[in-house]
Amino acid sequence: MSQTIAVLKGDGIGPEIMEASLRVLDALDCDLTYEFHDAGLAALDKHGTLVPPETLAAIATHRVALKGPLTTPIGKGFSSINVQLRRHFELYANVRPAISFPGTRSRYDNIDLITVRENTEGAYLAEGQSLSEDGETALSSIRVTRSGSERIVRYAFELARQKGRQKVTAVHKANIIKTSSGLFLEVAREVARDYPEIEFQEMIVDNACMQLVMNPNQFDVIVTTNLFGDILSDLCAGLVGGLGLAPGSNIGSEVAIFEAVHGSAPDIAGKKIANPCALLLAAADMLDHLGMVEKGAKIRGGIREVLENDREQVTPDMGGNGTTDTFADALVKVV
Ligand code: NAD
Repeated sequence: MSQTIAVLKGDGIGPEIMEASLRVLDALDCDLTYEFHDAGLAALDKHGTLVPPETLAAIATHRVALKGPLTTPIGKGFSSINVQLRRHFELYANVRPAISFPGTRSRYDNIDLITVRENTEGAYLAEGQSLSEDGETALSSIRVTRSGSERIVRYAFELARQKGRQKVTAVHKANIIKTSSGLFLEVAREVARDYPEIEFQEMIVDNACMQLVMNPNQFDVIVTTNLFGDILSDLCAGLVGGLGLAPGSNIGSEVAIFEAVHGSAPDIAGKKIANPCALLLAAADMLDHLGMVEKGAKIRGGIREVLENDREQVTPDMGGNGTTDTFADALVKVV
């Protein structure tokens, strides 16, 4: 039976890269039905809100969404749409793979690692932030819970098991932030005992940064708290040539939203030169999530093949002379 997914084309380059990505999905015969819904600036014009209730309802119904980048207007009291979606659906796991592709600006080959970032607690809380009246002292709080830590660490181990990964590294700062990071580490050690076939490693975050830059191939799956995960996953994206190749999934117990990590790139919107790779890799992760692992692998393999053999067709940010469409055309031929 056909699986329906909610599709949010997004703002800026969103519609261009979404069109290209859906064309590649169609070529793969995935038997998906797309239900298009508004969000972002397009929704603001039509519905007076960045995330209309009908879009939320559709995502809740279909449980899977592919989302283009959304512009959050600066000022005017708008809170980030991505944060709103994350909170609304309690998307607790932000999963960010970093994979080497040929011909990209990277010092390393064969990187294939996944950062699993806790997405709902840690240092990214709206509450508990204050500035003293004299403006001299700012306070922020960090909340880490046993259940939140267990949920994310277990997710990372289950992902490792499902993908045949060898090692999970818990990244922390328990030596200094003894309570919150300490609790996360304690829970990570406990959960690791349930997965004896997977190597468990723990690493302090500053060392993890250095190790990632010097010897990234030692990592496999990284699991960490919100703030460290935010930073480390961008570091990992930098290791494989930048945000043009970085997909991200936001996973909850009911709903999963797949997206490119980059934004709506208003500077190149409409020019047809946006790189569709990150959204395509997000689509590949979505296919894995839907149990179509072979088709997901075909997207990644296709991107690798085009980058190796048909470089003229790829977009300028990857060193080619092509457009979003020529890139998608080349991919459609090889998937
Ligand atoms: P951005 O990622 O949109 O752009 C940064 C730079 O990277 C720009 O020079 C852009 O041209 C380039 N770039 C980004 N994606 C590209 C692609 N696919 N192909 C080629 N070049 C690409 O970041 P920004 O300019 O800081 O943000 C623009 C808007 O995007 C803001 O409104 C921001 O709120 C939003 N944003 C949304 C998301 C999301 O929806 N997940 C994430 C980040 C930013």
